[in-house]
Amino acid sequence: MRLIVMGPPGVGKGSLASNLTKHYNIPHISTGAMFREEIQKASPVGKLVQAQINAGKFVNDSLTNDIVRERLLAKDVKNGFLLDGYPRNLRQAEDFEHILMQYGWKVDFVIYLDSNENILLKRITGRRVCKKCGETYHIENHKPQVDGICDKCGSPLVQREDDTVEITKRRLVIYHEQTQPIIDFYKARKNFLCIDGNGTIEEVTERVINKLEGIK
Ligand SMILES: [Zn+2]
Repeated sequence: MRLIVMGPPGVGKGSLASNLTKHYNIPHISTGAMFREEIQKASPVGKLVQAQINAGKFVNDSLTNDIVRERLLAKDVKNGFLLDGYPRNLRQAEDFEHILMQYGWKVDFVIYLDSNENILLKRITGRRVCKKCGETYHIENHKPQVDGICDKCGSPLVQREDDTVEITKRRLVIYHEQTQPIIDFYKARKNFLCIDGNGTIEEVTERVINKLEGIK
């Protein structure tokens, strides 16, 4: 199974990706995670990535494509893969078609996890994070035992600067602007699935798997 998972911030894409990779026994290929890894190793690629991030830019398309192309050479992708965070624009989606062609592969499904803005806003603005150990909480869905205090290490919980209503709204607008062309691209290829992202992560995972199995 070769999958691409997309969805706006706060929709629960990460948890879905992790459940699907377990279910299909395929690797979770996240470009964000790969960038962080290269930066940590201080590799030549990592240094390029860091320089672009420091300049306030997205990692450029050709470098991103190279990292993905390289990753797909690994043995663990023989059963398929789940791509997360890529392609992030139309240019990358088109380039990715060429990469797949070189390997003689096709993406089976592009899954777009969708939810309405009010729910996304609630999920994101309700997040709290422990400054010390990084554990995350939610003021409604995943409360700490003592209000405002981390269960794990007892440190105070804070809200991330970008998790405020105003910034989240802006992030959602930018996300939709960037993503619509990719959605149109995959819709034309008829392997695009829009899935309702409301409900618990178990419910959403089941909804996705039923859909995938039903179509196969
Ligand atoms: Zn903590």
